[in-house]
Amino acid sequence: MKGLFLNLPYKNKIVRRYNCSYNSPTFLLHPIELISLAGIFRERHGGRPYLIDAIAENKTIQEVFDSITTIVPEFIICICGIEYFEEDMVLINQLKVKFPDIKVILFGHYATEFHEVIIEKASADFIIHGEPDLIFSDLINHFNGNIDIESISGISFKSDKKNIHQKGTKRIPNPNDLPMPAYDLLDYKHYSEPFFPKPYGIILSARGCPYQCNYCVTTFGTKLTTLTPENILLQIEKQKELFGIKSFRFIDDTFTISPSRVINLCKLLIEKQLKLTWSCFSRSDTLDREMLQYMKQAGCTRIYIGMESGSEKILNFYNKKINLDNARKDLLYCKELGFELVGLFMVGAPSETIEDVDKSIAFAKSAGFDFVNIFQLIAYPGTQLFSILKNDIDFSILPYKNQFIDKKLRENADKFQKYFFRNFYFDSTRILFILKKYLKNFYKEIYSNRSTFLEYMLMNSKEKRRKDFI
Ligand code: SF4
Repeated sequence: MKGLFLNLPYKNKIVRRYNCSYNSPTFLLHPIELISLAGIFRERHGGRPYLIDAIAENKTIQEVFDSITTIVPEFIICICGIEYFEEDMVLINQLKVKFPDIKVILFGHYATEFHEVIIEKASADFIIHGEPDLIFSDLINHFNGNIDIESISGISFKSDKKNIHQKGTKRIPNPNDLPMPAYDLLDYKHYSEPFFPKPYGIILSARGCPYQCNYCVTTFGTKLTTLTPENILLQIEKQKELFGIKSFRFIDDTFTISPSRVINLCKLLIEKQLKLTWSCFSRSDTLDREMLQYMKQAGCTRIYIGMESGSEKILNFYNKKINLDNARKDLLYCKELGFELVGLFMVGAPSETIEDVDKSIAFAKSAGFDFVNIFQLIAYPGTQLFSILKNDIDFSILPYKNQFIDKKLRENADKFQKYFFRNFYFDSTRILFILKKYLKNFYKEIYSNRSTFLEYMLMNSKEKRRKDFI
């Protein structure tokens, strides 16, 4: 059986993940969820997977159609974006019009939340609810005639012109039982992280996050499941062997939740002397000092911190449960060890004032962040925050809109984002620091990315969607 794993086209460089999607003008991450499923299809079902990453390859929908005509897959599986949901549904409809006999499968947070609407209004044949791996595997078993579709939980489909929804999601008890993602299908020259050496790889070493930040769509839920250090090492070595990667990112929601796991992994990386540079996502209250020392020795150079705000009032509103004084101490310790810190902040909470934003800017500077990404708050369906604010939000899935009804709140979010950005970046030390980083790789970075870099620095907010610089 041939199956196509398709990252749909889009006019800009974007990243689609299970739980989020965003513009990434200066970098690109691998479609990790798609290659994980492709690995299952090949190893467990003897299938022949094809991957089209139309974002990385800069393909138009017509070029994707041409490839499909050549491949002739029996199914196409796509991950749906969140911010790009409506555009993705238009493409799915075009796909079905062009290839009515090929089964189209969708997954992702919005596909899960809105499976009833999607199966009704878009022309997908199957929607997988929640973590897709086991349900996808059941579905392939069904395509192969081994099981009835009625026996699969966590799936929506059309049958005799009726829409059937079989509830129930399946978390994977132990992700170590899954085959390795099909890294070999990727063309590594397309993927990168700013200022990191290429070729650049990726690892999803844990799924889920047990914290309860009320705005967050975690990857697959709150239960944390992890790969063993040995399994992670195998996946890193595989990417090194295939593509000679020089750097990579742990794409887990919060890589540092379990210091003992990270320490054991780092010991392995140090012992193997892989000499790779890597980055990860973290929370400021999980920065165990012994763990940080091991991370540094094992090649970690950059930590992304989900900080959100430097105002206690706003952190409480998000149920973030972070003590700012402790956070500052731990972040400064990271700086002492030589890590580069990227702060992920949000503005636009309904009660947020310019004084709160000033506190965030002051915190970002005093805690030693080298870069900040500043997002506007969007409350997503399926989160606690959406339930709290739902009467204040103008939301519809198709056509897609998700914004505060109160115009003043929308204007404030715009204003605060620009204010934070300018006050943080337009400062001589910061500009010198960034220029120095760019000058190291002048042709690779500034020359090839000059327009996106400038666009980002001047904060062109015509497209009011999340845009990450780093
Ligand atoms: S720590 Fe990060 S991933 Fe976990 S719930 Fe909070 S925002 Fe989400």
